[in-house]
Amino acid sequence: MNSRTERRIALISVHGDPAIEIGKEEAGGQNVYVRNVGEALADLGWQVDMFTRRVSEEQAEIVQHKENCRTIRFSAGPLEFIPRDNLYIHLPEFVEHFLAFQKENGYTYPLIHTNYWLSSWVGMQLKKIQGSQQVHTYHSLGAVKYNTVKTIPLIATTRLATEKELLETAQRVVATSPQEKEHMRSLVSTKGNIDIIPCGTDIHRFGCVDRQTARAQLGIAEDAQVVMYVGRFDHRKGIETLVRAVAQSQFRDQGKLQLIIGGGSVPGQSDGIERDRIEGIVKELGMEDFTTFPGRLSQEILPYYYAAADVCVVPSHYEPFGLVAIEAMASYTPVVASDVGGLQFTVVDGETGLLAPPEDHDAFAIAIDKIISNPAWRNKLGEAARKRVENKFSWGGVASQLSDLYLQLLQPTFQEKAMLLSS
Ligand code: UDP
Repeated sequence: MNSRTERRIALISVHGDPAIEIGKEEAGGQNVYVRNVGEALADLGWQVDMFTRRVSEEQAEIVQHKENCRTIRFSAGPLEFIPRDNLYIHLPEFVEHFLAFQKENGYTYPLIHTNYWLSSWVGMQLKKIQGSQQVHTYHSLGAVKYNTVKTIPLIATTRLATEKELLETAQRVVATSPQEKEHMRSLVSTKGNIDIIPCGTDIHRFGCVDRQTARAQLGIAEDAQVVMYVGRFDHRKGIETLVRAVAQSQFRDQGKLQLIIGGGSVPGQSDGIERDRIEGIVKELGMEDFTTFPGRLSQEILPYYYAAADVCVVPSHYEPFGLVAIEAMASYTPVVASDVGGLQFTVVDGETGLLAPPEDHDAFAIAIDKIISNPAWRNKLGEAARKRVENKFSWGGVASQLSDLYLQLLQPTFQEKAMLLSS
């Protein structure tokens, strides 16, 4: 087998370690995506190596997840957590480690799938140095993100230029929703090859427990009206909109309403400020007696929360995909989400949940109340949500679409075939 047809792939995720326990550290959708895509590709016969940055002495340099799938950590820059906006200067060292690793092991990766713009820079260097084929998933676009934040970081110019070069030069860019593709075209470049392959979720993990069992396990009353959020505490996630919406719910003073806001790091970490701010608003609006902050929820306990909830709310100002929405949907729970980005793709308004304009707490309040006031309709939305995820968003299905794309890119070109025949 020559190196172009070998089923060996490097998934690069410099700042999103696929091996860390999700929900325990500063980890979100990208970590979940890389880990699950990697494992599902290994099940399809790929040799999968996932490369990330090591952030402490305690972290193993290699973590074996299954026979053909492992995470490899390189020390680029100091062995400590560095916010992603400050990582760019350490990328050349990451590339050096990658090249040394290949040399030690006696092979070159013919195909590299990079994640987020930092890794895309690494991939572009490897493409130039050794001619690897590059596939890329953005996870977030600078051009969209900088429209939704108040302070633009210093790294913005570099990020925007890298994202443009990437789109114009990678063999293929994976958009996780038609909306993301549209943003790439209108805000980044009209050049380059884009395929739409969505994110996925574990349809066996999410949806494995029924509502009654989940509520019994979590100590939630059978007749409670449960509204939940889970995710990082980041201003962009719009948790304030949810809190203000629930504050004006018509069910608020009837004693059954419960608001669960899951996620968030230990005190002192970067999202602490947003968490304190949200707790302050809950206090100010007098909602403490029916609002809980259970902290980070592990992937093991999360299926119980989703199943116990009447509605899961995803109030992001912007969301390129939004894994939480499909996890809730897989758990038979309808979603009220902002009418933006990937959420317009996953949540079908009026069929699997409801969409509301971002940051519009009045509209969110109406949507949430509409679902909790009608349990039969709620159940119908939940059933349709589960079906949609089974049909479109399982990791197995996502990995098989990616695998087809990789195989297509690894096909010898016409000239290479001719050379092989004549040799
Ligand atoms: N997550 C988790 N526990 C938490 C908070 C989040 O396991 O306490 C997971 C969540 O289940 C989802 C991911 O983190 O798989 C968040 O992905 P999403 O795409 O919704 O948002 P991102 O973090 O990428 O902005």
